[in-house]
Amino acid sequence: MTYLIQGDRGDWEVVIGLEIHGQVVSKAKLFSGAATAFGADPNCQVSLVDAAMPGMLPVINEHCVEQAVRTGLGLKAEINLFSVFERKNYFYADLPQGYQISQYQHPIVGEGTVVLDMPDGSTREIGIERLHMEQDAGKSLHDQDPRRSFIDLNRTGVCLMEIVTKPDIRSPEEAGLFLRKLRSIMRYLGTCDGNMEEGSMRCDINVSVRSVGETELRTRAEVKNLNSVRFVMQAIEYEASRQVEAHDAGEEVVQETRLFDSARGTTRPMRAKEFAHDYRYFPDPDLLPLQLDQAFVDRIKAALPELPDDKKARFIREFGLSPYDAGVLVASRRVAEYFEAVAEGRDPKTAANWVITNLFGALNAKGLDISESPVSAAALGKLIDLIGKGTLSGRMAKEVFDAMLESGQDPEAIVAERGLEQISDSGAIEGIVDGLIADNPTQVEQYRAGNQKVIGWFVGQIMKATQGKANPQMVNKLLREKLGE
Ligand code: ADP
Ligand code: MG
Repeated sequence: MTYLIQGDRGDWEVVIGLEIHGQVVSKAKLFSGAATAFGADPNCQVSLVDAAMPGMLPVINEHCVEQAVRTGLGLKAEINLFSVFERKNYFYADLPQGYQISQYQHPIVGEGTVVLDMPDGSTREIGIERLHMEQDAGKSLHDQDPRRSFIDLNRTGVCLMEIVTKPDIRSPEEAGLFLRKLRSIMRYLGTCDGNMEEGSMRCDINVSVRSVGETELRTRAEVKNLNSVRFVMQAIEYEASRQVEAHDAGEEVVQETRLFDSARGTTRPMRAKEFAHDYRYFPDPDLLPLQLDQAFVDRIKAALPELPDDKKARFIREFGLSPYDAGVLVASRRVAEYFEAVAEGRDPKTAANWVITNLFGALNAKGLDISESPVSAAALGKLIDLIGKGTLSGRMAKEVFDAMLESGQDPEAIVAERGLEQISDSGAIEGIVDGLIADNPTQVEQYRAGNQKVIGWFVGQIMKATQGKANPQMVNKLLREKLGE
C-alpha cells in the first residue's frame, strides 16, 4: 500500500535514504590490537594507536576487511578490489587523532540490493549505494559530573561499516522493514550483532517529500543517530509531515541536519548547511590503498551461510509454506534452525503453525528469545507426533504445550503424569454413545426429526463423561452413524 501524506493541494510521496553504521564483529579494533568488548570499564581498551600518541602507526586488521567483504557479498553488492582509506579531518574532544580514518572516493563495497518482505507476501528491492569501512570515535560523557565532561576512548578505533542506501524507501514501514532485514542479513553473516540498544547499529535518515507524479527529488533533511527501529519510523513520519506543511505554507525546506527528540517524537535543527564541515579528505599517508585478491573474495563467498532470501525460497519450495510464514521463520537464523528441526520428518505446515502461532505467542508473552525457549525443538516435535498418532486431541495438545512451557518437561511425561491420553478406542466410545442414546429418547427424536444441532449436545455429554479425553473425530463419526439408524 502506498504511503501518502495529504497536503492542502494534493498528495505527497515520501522519499527516504538511510545511512547505517554497523559495528563490525571483531575482537580487535580496525587499526590496533585493543579489545572491543561492550561494557568494559572506561579507557581500559585503548592502545597507543587509539590514543593517537605521536609516532604510532595504524596496521589494518584483516579480519575486519573480511567482515566488510562478507557483508558486501550478503548485500549482493559489487566488491571493489581496490579501495582507499582517507582522513576525514575534524576536531572533537573524543577524537584524539583530529581525524577519522574512513573511505570516501573508493569504498570497499559498491552497489547492491536488499529485498524487503512486505506483509502481503510480496517483495520490494531497495538499492544499496555503497558500504565503506571507518573508525568509530570515542564517547564524551556529559552526565557524570556537574562541572566536567569525561571521555571514554574504548570505542575509539573500533571498526564500523557505513552502509548507504539509494533514496528508494517510500514509507516509515519500509524503513523499518529495511533495518530489520539488513540486521537479519548481518546477523546471519556474523558481521554485526545489530544490537541498537548497545549502539552497535545506528541509523541516520534522509527524508524529502514530493508531489505524487514528480520525478525530481526535492531538498532533503537529515536526522542523525537514531538508535531504535521505532525511533527511525517515528522520525520519518514527523519529518515528512513537517516538510509537507512547510511546502504547503510556501516555506522552503532547507538542507540541514536535525536531531530527534524521542520524548516528544519531533525533530529540531542541529546544524544548517551553512555550517557544513569541510572535512578536507585526503588519502591517509600511513596506509597503502587496500588491494584484495579475487581469490580472497572467492574464498569468503564460498563460505557464506544460506542467507534469509535463499532460505525463504527453499522453505516455500521444499515445505510448501506461504511466503509470509516462510519470511517469519527465516528472519532469524536460530528460528529457522529450530523450525527445521521440528519439521524434520513431519508435516511442515503443522510444524510452521506450532512454531509461529503457539511458540512465538508464548515466547513473546514471556519476553523470551528462541534460544531461551523452555520447549526444545525435539520436545515440540514429539508433541506434534502425539497429535498425529491420535494420543492427543488438538485441545489436549494445547494443554500439554502450556505445561511444557511451564516445566520444560517432555510431552510424554506430562501426558503420563496427568493421565491425558485421548480415548481413541472405538469400543469404549461406542459403549458411552449407546448408553446416551438409550437414556435420552427425546433428544434422539429431535435429531431424527431434522434438528442437527442436537448432535452438539450429545458430543458435550460424551466429553463430560470422558473428561474431554474422547477423540472428537471418532465421537462425531459414531454419533452420526448411531443416531442415523
Ligand atoms: P551526502 O554525501 O551529503 O551524505 P549522499 O548523496 O551520499 O549525501 O546521500 C546520503 C543519503 O541521502 C543516501 O542514503 C541517499 O539515498 C539519501 N538521499 C539523497 N538525496 C535524497 C533526497 N532528495 N531525498 C531523500 N533522500 C535522499
Ligand atoms: Mg553521508
